[in-house]
Amino acid sequence: MNNKIIKEVDKILKERRLIVLERTKNAKEELLFNEEYAHLIKKRRLNTLVLSRAFSANIDCTEYEILDKKLNNDIKNIEDKYLKCNDFYFCKICRDTGKINGKYCQCFMSIYKQMLHNKSGINDLPIFKFKDNTIQEINCKQANSLNVLYNSMQKYCKFFPNNDLKNILLCGKVGVGKSCLLSAILNELIERSIDAQYLTAYKLNSLFFKYHTTDFREKEVIMENLIESDVLIIDDLGTEPILKNVTIEYLIVLLNERINKHTIIATNLSLSEIQAKYGDRVFSRLINKQKARIIYIDGNDLRLNSK
Ligand SMILES: [Zn+2]
Repeated sequence: MNNKIIKEVDKILKERRLIVLERTKNAKEELLFNEEYAHLIKKRRLNTLVLSRAFSANIDCTEYEILDKKLNNDIKNIEDKYLKCNDFYFCKICRDTGKINGKYCQCFMSIYKQMLHNKSGINDLPIFKFKDNTIQEINCKQANSLNVLYNSMQKYCKFFPNNDLKNILLCGKVGVGKSCLLSAILNELIERSIDAQYLTAYKLNSLFFKYHTTDFREKEVIMENLIESDVLIIDDLGTEPILKNVTIEYLIVLLNERINKHTIIATNLSLSEIQAKYGDRVFSRLINKQKARIIYIDGNDLRLNSK
């Protein structure tokens, strides 16, 4: 799990606990307007006074001690009843601690997933999940192979990170279904609380340029997210302009830093075009025989077909 996000969630839960404390305090103050409660509080105060005097005078205190116990009990009963009615906790299961029996509570995981979702870049993709896959119903020549591919990628997500694949290169022309597949992968990974991030090669290139031109202190923040995501999905590799000393150089740095992490790249380019455009150093890092899988999607344009 992403430690930075865990800290953010802890911060939210801490704020919730402070709100609960404030609400409890206010409720106790409101309780003083309850006649029975106010009467008991007054009676206990008087009894405490009598009790301490009797004690100092060495008089038998038993009677007052019994009364003190009873008053405490009656006061607690009213407090419990009243405060329970108000039930201030955001999460009744873990009482906003975020943990239950040493494991993260569902409230914690729900905030965590929302944060993964927010930073994932998923809003730049079409809304599509594996369950939305109706490719077998579409009349196109790549339907069967796409269906096999969807099933295989669904398995990849299901067993993540327990597979040897580190790089997946998804090659295919515009409109063959790459973006929907990437969206389904990203949705599934986030649903499984995996830190996955999507961005286009164009956006990545802009970040590289920002990294190249920015102040030293801010550099780390720009690269940190890209390097640390469990899965980085780069779409449309090849559509971005090649900036001298930037695009290829930082792509190599990024791929080197992510050597033990998962990176999925979608491109309209063929392998030879990738090699020609990015050179051998990028190419060899993408096409590592032991850890990479290259998938070709060819056939008709699904977007034209579904019209
Ligand atoms: Zn909870």
